[in-house]
Amino acid sequence: MANTPPAKASKLVHCTKCGLPETYETIEFDTKGVCNVCRQQEFKQERIDWTGRKKMLDEMIEEYRGKYEYDCIVPFSGGKDSTFTLYHLMTEYKVKPLVVQFNHGFMRPTLLENNERTFKQLGVDVISFTPNWKVVKRVMKEALARKGDFCWHCHTGIFSYPMHLAIKYNTPLVIWGEPSTEYVSYYDYRDDAIEEVDESRFNRYVTLGITAQDMKGMIAADTSFDPRDFAPYTYPALRDLKRLRYRSVCLGSFIPWDARRQAELIMDKLGWKGDEVEGMPPDLYPYEKIECAMQGMRDYIKYLKRGYGRVTQMTALDIRNGRLEKEKADQLIAEYEGKKPPSLELFLEYLEMDEAEFNATVSKTVVAPHKPDFGSNAVAPKTHDFNRWYREKK
Ligand SMILES: [Zn+2]
Repeated sequence: MANTPPAKASKLVHCTKCGLPETYETIEFDTKGVCNVCRQQEFKQERIDWTGRKKMLDEMIEEYRGKYEYDCIVPFSGGKDSTFTLYHLMTEYKVKPLVVQFNHGFMRPTLLENNERTFKQLGVDVISFTPNWKVVKRVMKEALARKGDFCWHCHTGIFSYPMHLAIKYNTPLVIWGEPSTEYVSYYDYRDDAIEEVDESRFNRYVTLGITAQDMKGMIAADTSFDPRDFAPYTYPALRDLKRLRYRSVCLGSFIPWDARRQAELIMDKLGWKGDEVEGMPPDLYPYEKIECAMQGMRDYIKYLKRGYGRVTQMTALDIRNGRLEKEKADQLIAEYEGKKPPSLELFLEYLEMDEAEFNATVSKTVVAPHKPDFGSNAVAPKTHDFNRWYREKK
């Protein structure tokens, strides 16, 4: 079963340089058929004044140092980017941060071990918050049906919860990891503006157009959750944030972001470990998206909706950075992309649906001109920790 080829993708227009397809969010092609993400990367490498950017960061950190309960808040998933961000801020700037972790409900064993090691090695205060699982499951199902994206609770929680703690702990400076400009073009390196991780970004980029208030209304008919259950997904009131005079920025706006080099650094300095991820080439990207047991599902749904998955996305990044030939990328995509992840079984169990209902739900959110093939039965191999992932049924 595992050796059957994955479902054949429909014919889409692809970037002539990196291979991203026309169904990629925010993509545009120029007259040479090169995408805007590629053009933006050329600009990042050649034209940004990184010395000036670093000076801005130096000054910002000094402005907030020692004046509040913490020097800054570092939102932390435990993945390579937030781990590097925390490491960099503590070693280069000697800040005293508050680490804030929003637990989406699917943290994997290796990640939890990494977290413990990182926190202990660096010596840091941590607050980890886990929202109500019954609410999480129900809003996952609603977001899947409405947008074909079940990660609403995770995205909104990750971006709003640390802001609530910034207010609670009177700590105005919040420092995130990679800027969104690395992957999409909602914000542009060429504008030379620093991306603020604020409410307008939250609404444009994070919520899928569904506020917590909307979500509460959408599921009100068949649930009786307490209105307070939606607080972790609600962005704090602007007046409270303004009173705090907050800044919420990405470290990657001030130093050139290099995910692979940074992953190697934290492996070396902190003993951070990579992991295999469902549907990905096992040895090529062991540092990417190891945080979530549902990552394979997220990638699979993207493949059904848009005709590409994360192999395409990662190889495009490597091609852009001159680390991979297009031909090799095409081989990897053909071999790995679009197979059913073993986590599909757990996902259906959590959301109380069968596969036919799942397929019907996803088919309503497909991005034209892609046409998914639900008939393929190619299955990706189970990861080593699959049997330790949470099951509803014992
Ligand atoms: Zn491109």
